[in-house]
Amino acid sequence: MLREINENWITEDKLLSANDEAAVVCNDCAGCSECCTETGCMIILDAYDVKMLVRELNYSFEGLLSAGLVRFDVVDGVVLPGLGVDEKGACAFLGKNGRCSIHNARPGICRLFPLARIYHDDGSFSYFLQESECGRRTGEKIKVADWLGYDDIEDYEKQVRIYHDALKELKENCKNARSAEEVTALQSAFLKKWFLNA
Ligand code: SF4
Ligand code: SF4
Repeated sequence: MLREINENWITEDKLLSANDEAAVVCNDCAGCSECCTETGCMIILDAYDVKMLVRELNYSFEGLLSAGLVRFDVVDGVVLPGLGVDEKGACAFLGKNGRCSIHNARPGICRLFPLARIYHDDGSFSYFLQESECGRRTGEKIKVADWLGYDDIEDYEKQVRIYHDALKELKENCKNARSAEEVTALQSAFLKKWFLNA
């Protein structure tokens, strides 16, 4: 589900805030698990996602890794945690009934889809609809905040922004690092700060 953002998809009038409505309703995904079964399903986790998984599933971060429910992936040259996958590339949390087994703890990317986020130069972000995604959309609209379903959308957005700034800084520092050892040290410190103590 992680995709490159094509700038042509997003014109100013398509940028959404949490209070705007979007035509994302898809009949509760009835009978469809397409976004959870794509080969190599790649759901990258942020710090907020990991905190929720740890809290709701009663696992430590290390426990999630040991159980294969979370793995590390390299994204833009940086090691980040992502959801584990089975041998066919489907999400490790997809139940046998084709439904998400961790609905209340599902990560932000899953909550958003087919919406995505685009960040602006000042660090703020907007949501936008990936028009070509999810062929089951009925055209019915729902408020973005309700679609995401977080208890406190303002806190969520604040935390996402803080994490995004830290990740941006890490990428910049890794790019400017003078040795592989320095990159490893930067990476380790980032993972320790944001995930290993979750
Ligand atoms: S493609 Fe649409 S209907 Fe199918 S699982 Fe994804 S969001 Fe649900
Ligand atoms: S966490 Fe749930 S919604 Fe997200 S990819 Fe896995 S099964 Fe699908």
